[in-house]
Amino acid sequence: MSYSIEDNHEFDLLVKQDKLQLLYSQSFPSTYFSLFTAFIYAGIIWGKIDSTYIYGWLTAVVITTLIRLTLFFTYKKQNPQDADILKWEKPYFASLMLAVAIWSIGIVMIAYRLPFLYQVISFLIMLGMAGAALTVYSAIRYFSSLAVLGVLTPVIILFVYIGNRTSLLIALTGLIFLVSALRATRILSHNLHYSYMLTHALSRAKEEAERLASIDMLTGLNNRRAFTEQANVQVEYCKRYEHPVAALVLDADHFKKINDSRGHAAGDIALQNLARTLQKITRSSDIIGRIGGEEFAVLLSNTEEKEALLVAEKLRKWIADHPVNINDDYFSITVSIGVATDHDYNLEKLLNRADEAMYQAKQSGRNRVILAKK
Ligand code: GH3
Ligand code: MG
Ligand code: MG
Repeated sequence: MSYSIEDNHEFDLLVKQDKLQLLYSQSFPSTYFSLFTAFIYAGIIWGKIDSTYIYGWLTAVVITTLIRLTLFFTYKKQNPQDADILKWEKPYFASLMLAVAIWSIGIVMIAYRLPFLYQVISFLIMLGMAGAALTVYSAIRYFSSLAVLGVLTPVIILFVYIGNRTSLLIALTGLIFLVSALRATRILSHNLHYSYMLTHALSRAKEEAERLASIDMLTGLNNRRAFTEQANVQVEYCKRYEHPVAALVLDADHFKKINDSRGHAAGDIALQNLARTLQKITRSSDIIGRIGGEEFAVLLSNTEEKEALLVAEKLRKWIADHPVNINDDYFSITVSIGVATDHDYNLEKLLNRADEAMYQAKQSGRNRVILAKK
């Protein structure tokens, strides 16, 4: 499987979740920062305008800040996971637009009534706010674009409206800043998107590689390594709860002859059939693996000797009674099975004993089940 990052929309929702998580986690400081800036601004223009305007605006800023902080705290407390995170996009956006409106409309209404020097200071403050919005919200492009647009457009319009040469040139500076900020937001958000995408694609590729490394490609069963790993876990589990544990080792009889007489492809199909039979007859909690060419092992947890022998016999009989069918050409196949049980809880020893029993089954004529000696 190949991963083309640019056109891959598979991870879009995951990336969106990452971005929202990032936004929420970095929003606390910026909210305090903007409240702090509002008080500094009020201090600068104090005495230059009827204080009712300042009080009114500050009250609106404080209320907005409280609303936003409540939202961020609620998010933090609920700590949403996976797809639930996406539900938090709209509230964030609404609270952001509220803050942008309070700032831009408020400052324009105040600046409109101020002497020119203080209008310029107001403009600079809004430029600073736009710069902050650009960095804080760039994770989600439309958030940062709309925030920058919302913060700058009214103040640019005010300076056009004032209409003197200086104010028009300042408005032009604002416009240039706006355009470059919108461009920057595109680049920043694209890069962030790309790096989040890459993270997900890599972890998916790693999972896939791990899965492939543990699977036998012909039969889809665990390969020897994965079988040993999983079986060891089961053995440990049985040891802890003192459950009996058993192992079967199966080897196809005279398999070389099948390959020689019917071809390797037919041999492959026979092995796939064997694998399916093993899956069908064992329990889902049993662990099956292809541990060699035509050799399989099954670990039966919480299974007594008698029960293990029954399973082995059932397998042997089913395999012997169900010939392989390739294009209506039927041929029989049999297996020799060694069974071992113990209470030492040592997988290696258990498998070795089952293997020895399997060889005895071969020596005593094949197509049979032999129980390993204690
Ligand atoms: P025995 O009853 O003593 O086990 O005889 P056998 O012929 O099964 O045993 P031997 O070890 O001599 O041969 C095993 C054969 O299994 C030889 C090998 O080509 C075949 N084999 C192993 N892996 C595969 C496979 O993936 N596909 C096919 N078609 N054959 C395989
Ligand atoms: Mg064999
Ligand atoms: Mg063999």
